[in-house]
Amino acid sequence: MPKKFVYFFTQSHTEGRKEMKNLLGGKGSGLAEMCSIGLPVPAGFTLTTDVCDLYFKNDRRFPKGLEAEVVKNLKRLEKTTGKKFAAADDPLLVSVRSGAPVSMPGMMETILNLGLTDRSIEGLARKTGNRRFAIDAYRRFITMYGSTAMGLEREAFDTALARLKEERTRRRLHAPVERKINDTDISADELEELVKVYKAIYREKTGRDFPQDPLEQLWGAIRAVFDSWMADKAVTYRRVENLRNISGTAVNIQQMVFGNMGERSGTGVCFTRDPNTGENTFYGDYLINAQGEDVVAGIRTPMKLAEFEKKDPVSYRQLVNVRRVLESHFKEMQDLEFTVEEGKLFMLQCRTGKRSPMAAFKIAVDMAQEKLISKKEAILRIKDKDIEGIFYPVIDPAQREAMRQYYLVTGIDAVPGAATGKVVFTAHDAEAWTARGEKVIMVRKETSPEDVGGMHAAQGILTATGGKTSHAAVVARGWGKCCIVGCEKLTIDYEREQFAVGQTVVHKGEEITLNGSTGDVFRTALKLIRPELPAAYKSLLEWADDIRRLGVRTNADTPYDAQRAVELGAEGIGLCRTEHMFFDTEERRQAIQEMIVADTVEERIRALDRLLPYQREDFKGIFTAMDGCPVTIRLIDPPLHEFVPHDEAKQRELAAKIGISYELVRARVEQLHEANPMLGHRGCRLAITYPEILDMQVRAIIEAACECQQQGVDVRPEIMVPLTMDRKELQVLDTRIRKVSDAIIAASGRKLSYLVGTMIEVPRAALLADQIAQVAEFFSFGTNDLTQMTLGISRDDAGKFLPDYVDEKKAGVFHDDPFQSLDQEGVGMLVRMGIEKGRRIRPKLKVGICGEHGGEPKSVEFCYRVGMDYVSCSPFRVPIARLAAAQARIKEETADRNSRRPVSRKRQTKTNKGPTRRTKR
Ligand code: ADP
Ligand code: MG
Ligand code: MG
Repeated sequence: MPKKFVYFFTQSHTEGRKEMKNLLGGKGSGLAEMCSIGLPVPAGFTLTTDVCDLYFKNDRRFPKGLEAEVVKNLKRLEKTTGKKFAAADDPLLVSVRSGAPVSMPGMMETILNLGLTDRSIEGLARKTGNRRFAIDAYRRFITMYGSTAMGLEREAFDTALARLKEERTRRRLHAPVERKINDTDISADELEELVKVYKAIYREKTGRDFPQDPLEQLWGAIRAVFDSWMADKAVTYRRVENLRNISGTAVNIQQMVFGNMGERSGTGVCFTRDPNTGENTFYGDYLINAQGEDVVAGIRTPMKLAEFEKKDPVSYRQLVNVRRVLESHFKEMQDLEFTVEEGKLFMLQCRTGKRSPMAAFKIAVDMAQEKLISKKEAILRIKDKDIEGIFYPVIDPAQREAMRQYYLVTGIDAVPGAATGKVVFTAHDAEAWTARGEKVIMVRKETSPEDVGGMHAAQGILTATGGKTSHAAVVARGWGKCCIVGCEKLTIDYEREQFAVGQTVVHKGEEITLNGSTGDVFRTALKLIRPELPAAYKSLLEWADDIRRLGVRTNADTPYDAQRAVELGAEGIGLCRTEHMFFDTEERRQAIQEMIVADTVEERIRALDRLLPYQREDFKGIFTAMDGCPVTIRLIDPPLHEFVPHDEAKQRELAAKIGISYELVRARVEQLHEANPMLGHRGCRLAITYPEILDMQVRAIIEAACECQQQGVDVRPEIMVPLTMDRKELQVLDTRIRKVSDAIIAASGRKLSYLVGTMIEVPRAALLADQIAQVAEFFSFGTNDLTQMTLGISRDDAGKFLPDYVDEKKAGVFHDDPFQSLDQEGVGMLVRMGIEKGRRIRPKLKVGICGEHGGEPKSVEFCYRVGMDYVSCSPFRVPIARLAAAQARIKEETADRNSRRPVSRKRQTKTNKGPTRRTKR
């Protein structure tokens, strides 16, 4: 059977369904679904995304058989509506609307009022008894067709319209200059004149008359919609948003209904719940006597739904009914477009509504409580972006009027949150102005690594170029700093220190506001608020905690971080780096430097003795903050040269302070130099060479633990050896750790249990995990190093070329940056194998992950699937990991159920192990 290219929709005969989004696009499947549940939708038909695909594969030619199918469906549409396409008496007019499987706001084309010709316009005027309306529709159509199908500059039409308003309408009305002339002020005669001007423009620019054959119009419009799929901006958008495997856009051809027929007509957009707050209230805008884009284009100020209700209660009630039907049908907040034609409501679009992070939580939790969806469904609906977003400052939503008034332009929403500040154009200014206490927004064409200082100082970043993976976006995201990129309407003039959006010029020093969650830029300082964590957030994360099996710990080096992480839901510390403590104060720095330049073991021990009390105090702080939770402390990891000064002045200073010669210091520093420090003298290799360092650190940990325990704190230390590559190596260190620890514990007369384990971050350790598990009581996968070493790519240098490996247009080797999202195939193989081998020897081996992957949702899901006990991530990613862990379990259950097999044996033994397999408190 040949492929079906066209799907018809009307209440009594609908060929599509909501599940056919890939084939019919979001709009087409939504229209079909609304028809099939009996909502009032103007009839029409949808050309599938396959047609678009074939069109491009076939050198922009329509596939065979399409024409016949379109003609057949047009006939059917004529029959359904009882009107003839573009007829001279009561013409059928249509809209030709794009609609891809994913929404691409503002990227694609739509043409309204198609079928209007010099002949059919008379019919429309007669039939409706409203000549002005008919001509108005015609002039709109010429503009849309000219600019969209023929690629003419829209500006020519807009200029002519503006001139007509000034030269004719204003004079006729004797309107003073300060009064704005609206489109609705223009008379029928004036519009008639405008149409003549438009046609002349069309002829001048295309060399042809405006087409009077409606079928020519139709095919021209279909072609225009398809072509818009491959327009530069659309292609760029898909790349930036990482939208792949979408074959094209569908085209919807739909009977026109008219919101511009007078006071009992109008057009609007609405959300079934408030998309900003999530409140279960009806939210939207309505414009009387208007068509299509008038609402969003800001031609006149629309009214709120409450006012609509007062003005036209009959139409409003129909809309309220639609809201109810749609929410209970889709069980999701819907974004609706509708038109009222002389008191009768027509639905023109429905889709899942975009919402603020706050609204996402509120809606999910409310819907679960309304029993519209299950708690699990509610959990699955939250994205990591929603969690990130909920902690960022936002624009106080009370300022809606100001937001409308000062709106400037929209770019790509790279990092959510909001920021206000004065515009600066260089990193230097950003830093200097911030230093003197000003808040700034850094505006650049693009950013480069030299700008990082300024970017860090700035409240927010705005760039004219680049996508969500550009330098600016990636860097800002790392800091959680509000950032808008790819704002292409921005013309930046560094020389004159200003930027322009069309006619509007913004100078250095002027205040702007960025909304990184939407990409909107405002030309004023709007008020920002730090959102209270809403009750819905708390409920939802509690539900997530009930469901997940995977523990969530944090990486924290200070009591402050530890405390913060606990508040965010961390159940322990998975990685406490001890070396950061050495930099904290001058005294500490000096002691560690003295230790490093020391010539003899005795000297070294003396310096270490000075460090001991500091470390002990640090650990006491952390144990206290983490009362009752495990704390994994990693022994010193970085190469020693990172601790010593490299310039002469500082070296001389150090020499003077510790009373040795400058030459000696310099010689020692030179000795420490390594060609490849990442693979040099670091991690546990240091402890093999200088066991006295290990002694001091272990002493500090265990003494702190004993003291805390005495004060009633429940301490659970886990001592972790970094960079292990061999069983024997670990054995040597393990013996030493236990010797020191057990002596202290014995002397204290207390009972204290502790664990000794290792990081698995060298491929060899993963390969020999069974041997290593003979010694280690736990594994923590250090996937940052493991990724570097498995891929043979240094993370610090990868920025220059790794993007090409992710970019599908270049190499497209990786779907995601392997340093951000775990390379599940390669590195993941080592992880999986390491766990299997380790547990073969030691079934109760505790396994976790530390490093940034532990807070990245896809990696967290992987960690759950391979049977880890916990993930550990930076404090502010803890809630994301909690959510991702719950989602991983829900997805697994669903998959198990769908495969119709009982839960697999392996998983059963895992879950049956109960508490020993869980670190959850
Ligand atoms: P977009 O994808 O940009 O939202 P649409 O295809 O939804 O474009 O069209 C934009 C607007 O045009 C709609 O919201 C609606 O107001 C108007 N419109 C589209 N089709 C029709 C129609 N058949 N009758 C009346 N208005 C229509
Ligand atoms: Mg729309
Ligand atoms: Mg490491």
